[in-house]
Amino acid sequence: MKVLVIGAGLSGLTAATALAARGADVQVLEARDRVGGRMHGIEVADGQWADAGAAYLGERHTALLALMAETDLKAVPTTMEGDSRFALSTGRTGNSGGTGDSGATGDAGVPAARSVPGRFPPLNAVALGELFDLLDEVTRAVRVDAPWLTPDAERLDTTTAAEWAAENLRHADARLFFPLFLGEMMAADPADVSVLHMAFYLRSGGGLRYLNAFAGGAQESRIDGGAHRLCEALAARLGDRVRLAEPVLAVDQDDDVVTVSSAGGAYRADAVVVAVPPVLADRIDFRPGLPAPRSSERTAPGCAVKVHLVHPSPLWREAGLSGWSVSSEGPLLSTVDDSPAGSAGVLTGFVTGEEAKRYATLPYAEQRAAAVAQAARLFPALPEPIGFHVTNWLDEPYSRGCYAALFGPGDWLAQGPHLTRPHGRVHWAGTETSTEFFGLMEGAVRSGHRAAAEVADTHSTPGSTR
Ligand code: FAD
Repeated sequence: MKVLVIGAGLSGLTAATALAARGADVQVLEARDRVGGRMHGIEVADGQWADAGAAYLGERHTALLALMAETDLKAVPTTMEGDSRFALSTGRTGNSGGTGDSGATGDAGVPAARSVPGRFPPLNAVALGELFDLLDEVTRAVRVDAPWLTPDAERLDTTTAAEWAAENLRHADARLFFPLFLGEMMAADPADVSVLHMAFYLRSGGGLRYLNAFAGGAQESRIDGGAHRLCEALAARLGDRVRLAEPVLAVDQDDDVVTVSSAGGAYRADAVVVAVPPVLADRIDFRPGLPAPRSSERTAPGCAVKVHLVHPSPLWREAGLSGWSVSSEGPLLSTVDDSPAGSAGVLTGFVTGEEAKRYATLPYAEQRAAAVAQAARLFPALPEPIGFHVTNWLDEPYSRGCYAALFGPGDWLAQGPHLTRPHGRVHWAGTETSTEFFGLMEGAVRSGHRAAAEVADTHSTPGSTR
C-alpha cells in the first residue's frame, strides 16, 4: 500500500509513522523547509531552546506522552512558583489579599501591576465564579463527538461568544476577564468564534478548569529541549520518506489511483492523508472537488503572536515572582516563565485576539519597545533583555494563524459533518479533525492515529509512487 501524507506537522508525522509501522510505503510532502508546523523552536542561548509555537501539555495528553516516550523525550514541569502580577483596569473589590495599588493607573494611563499569591486574578470572585458557572453550563451541554448535533446547535452556532458575553455577563469584572480568558485559552477574539465552537473547544480539551490549570492541568509541563524535538525525532526515523519544500497544489483521483502534484513533481499512491489546517486544505485543488469546503469566510485564524524576552537568568524569581502575569492592556496580555533547563531566563509574552492583529502590523522596533516597556512595568527589577524574538503566526503562509482554526458563526453546522469523512482516497488528519483535544498537540497525535487506522483498514490495493 502506497500512501502520501501532506504536511509534516505532528499529525502528519504521527500518521506516517503509524502507517510505516503497518508496513505501508509512505511519503510525506511538506511545504516548508522544516518539519513541525505549529511546533517550532527558537535557540535563545547556546543549546537552549524556547517554544515559538506549541509548548504545554498535561497528564491527560496520553497519546502525546506515549509518542514522547517512544522518542526518548521527557516532560519538564512549567515553573509557577512565586506571586503572579496582574495589571487589570476595572474597579474591583479584590478577594485574594494581593499587595500593590489596586485600581490605580500608572504612567500613560496604563493600569498599575500588583502582586498576588497564586493565579486567581484580583477581581470580584463572585463575578468570576458566575462566569465560570455559565461557561461550565454551555460546555457541558455540547456533544463533543458531533457538536452539530448538540441540542439547540443552530442558535449556539449562529451566536458569537462576544454576543453571548454581552447578553450573559452582568458584572464589569466578568466582562473584563472573559476576553482575556478566551485569548489565553484559544487565541480568540470573542467576536470571531461561535458559542458552539467555544463550548466544544473547552469540552474537547478536558473542561475549562483542566485547560486553564498549570499544576494538574493542560499546562503542567513542556517537552524538554522544545516541542519541535518531537517532530524532528519522528522525521529522523522516517528519514528520506519526508520531503521538504514540496507545497502540494493539487490532488487528483480516479477509481484506481490518487495523484498528488507538488511544486517538485507528481506522486501516485493508493491513498492520501491531508494533515494541514482547514483553511490551507481549501487552497489545494481537489479533482473531483470536495463535497463541501473545509472552511468559510467566517473561519478565523487563531490570533497569537508569541514574544520571547531573553535574560541571563530568570531574574523575576529573585523578587519572589513566578513570571506569570495577566494584563488588560497589551501588547503582552499574559506572560509566563518558559526558561529552559540551563541558565537562560525566558519570559514568554502572549499577544492574542484583537491585540495580536494590531501588534502584528507594527515594525519590529516598535514591537520590541512596547514589549520591553511592558515587561519592565510588570517586573520592575527587569533590565533590558539580552535577546528578543517575535513569532508572528498570523503571517505564516503555511499556518495562517494559531493556536488552531477558530470556527465562526455557521461553521460547525456547515463543515463539522465533513471534517473527518473521507473523500474517496483522501483522508483527513490535523488537530482540527480531532474531537478530542481539538487544537492541541494531543489532538494532532490522535488525529494522526485515526487517519492511519482508517487508511490501513480501507486501502490494500498496491500502486506506485511517482
Ligand atoms: P500543523 O502543525 O499546522 O502542520 C501542518 C503542516 O502542513 C505544516 O508543517 C505546514 O507547513 C504543512 N502544509 C501546509 N500546507 C501545505 C501544503 N499545501 N503542502 C504541503 N504541506 C503543507 N498545543 C498544545 O498542545 N499546547 C500548547 O501550549 C500550544 N500552544 C500553541 C502556541 C502557539 C503559538 C501555536 C502556534 C500553537 C500552539 N498549540 C499548542 C497548537 C499545536 O501547535 C497544534 O495543535 C499542533 O501542532 C497542530 O499539528 P498539525 O499537524 O495538526 O498541524
